[in-house]
Amino acid sequence: MLVNRLISPLLLLLLAVSAQCVCAEQASVQGTRVWTDPAKTRLVFETSSAITHRVFPLDDPDRLVIDLDDAVMQSNLPKVDLGDPLLVGLRGGVRGGSHLRIVLDLKQPVRAKSFALSPNERYGHRLVIDLTPKDGSSVRRVALPSFPNSAVRKGAGRPGRGPAVIVAIDAGHGGEDPGAIGSGGTLEKDVTLAIARELAKLVDREPGLEALMIRDGDYYVGLQERIAIARERRADLFVSIHADAFSSANAKGSSVYTLSYGGASSEAAKWLASRENSADLIGGVDLSTGDDLLANVLMDMTQNATIEHSTEAAAMVLANLGRLGVVHRGDVQRAGFAVLKAPDVPSILVETAFISNPDEEKRLRDRGHQRELAEAILAGVLGYFRKYPPHGMLVDASPQGGGGGAREYVIGPGDTLSGIAKQHSVSISALRARNGLNDDMIRVGQVLAIPEDS
Ligand SMILES: [Zn+2]
Repeated sequence: MLVNRLISPLLLLLLAVSAQCVCAEQASVQGTRVWTDPAKTRLVFETSSAITHRVFPLDDPDRLVIDLDDAVMQSNLPKVDLGDPLLVGLRGGVRGGSHLRIVLDLKQPVRAKSFALSPNERYGHRLVIDLTPKDGSSVRRVALPSFPNSAVRKGAGRPGRGPAVIVAIDAGHGGEDPGAIGSGGTLEKDVTLAIARELAKLVDREPGLEALMIRDGDYYVGLQERIAIARERRADLFVSIHADAFSSANAKGSSVYTLSYGGASSEAAKWLASRENSADLIGGVDLSTGDDLLANVLMDMTQNATIEHSTEAAAMVLANLGRLGVVHRGDVQRAGFAVLKAPDVPSILVETAFISNPDEEKRLRDRGHQRELAEAILAGVLGYFRKYPPHGMLVDASPQGGGGGAREYVIGPGDTLSGIAKQHSVSISALRARNGLNDDMIRVGQVLAIPEDS
């Protein structure tokens, strides 16, 4: 005991000295990745420790210089995709004996924003450089719109949108964030994008419906930005697509989630939500800017009504997935998923299957199965819109939605009988006759049958 007490301080001192030596060593760049998305080009340097850096532009020709202090290159610089709107290529060299200089050759002047990411379960230290065009041409603006109290649901106060009902389709993960990884090497981000694209194709084929892909490529979009994109386009429904993972390879089946502020519906749901919410840490979001889009004060006004609608949509999607195959849990699950927190857009999250289950992983890669999943989700979405038709939506009144039924139109604020007649290329008299109307009086929420072309 006594010996121990004497030795310990000495050991600590030795450890401290050796730790200092490690710190003084050069950092190494162990990998560099480039991600191109519609709003920006992202460079990620994976480094052995936190790194001091400087970024500055040079012109004629346009270049961006990234100086990394006390650093050594331990990997190759990646080739840049020809289609990248900003980058021609990267080159690097040693500067002043022990520093690194990386030069980006550019297609146009850029604005650069850099931030460091701390290590997490998937990555060590990372330095992120986001490039956007200096003229701001393709920069996606993420605004914080105000919420009138009345805009709880469709219809009221939605200027600037076309007549189409918009389904926002959110392929989970992307870019730096692969999501869950199956034992066969399947990445969740690839599967979610494939299913999302199938769903978008089906949605766009439905009259009156329009798909909005939140991401349509291999890049990361922050969770709050996903919501902001959907809200900016005034989406009527937000469907986030994922593939589940669990420690047991036997877990299987689909689940559908809605947002919960209180407790999650199960421990597993809570665990899953915290895993999905960590996507921003892995995908790379600069959390230092601190603009909290989801301020609680805004949410309280509309969230309850939205959750009710979300639950209805989730139940319909779950029922249709159940027809396709096994469901993991028979009820709609609830948990605090960040991506579902749009205060005024009903939002659901579909865990299509377990990528951690080898059988389901195989099915998730299969084009035919991806399509079947998309069809089941669409059937649920259509069922939801039939029950809660957004303003101006044409609904197919036949129970199966097979396309052969009569068309209906839900009256929204500002609609007139003559406007509706014109929009659907029918005469006012045919419209009146079909609906037994004696005059031109209509009310919001009223459903009109649209006669065949007259
Ligand atoms: Zn996921």
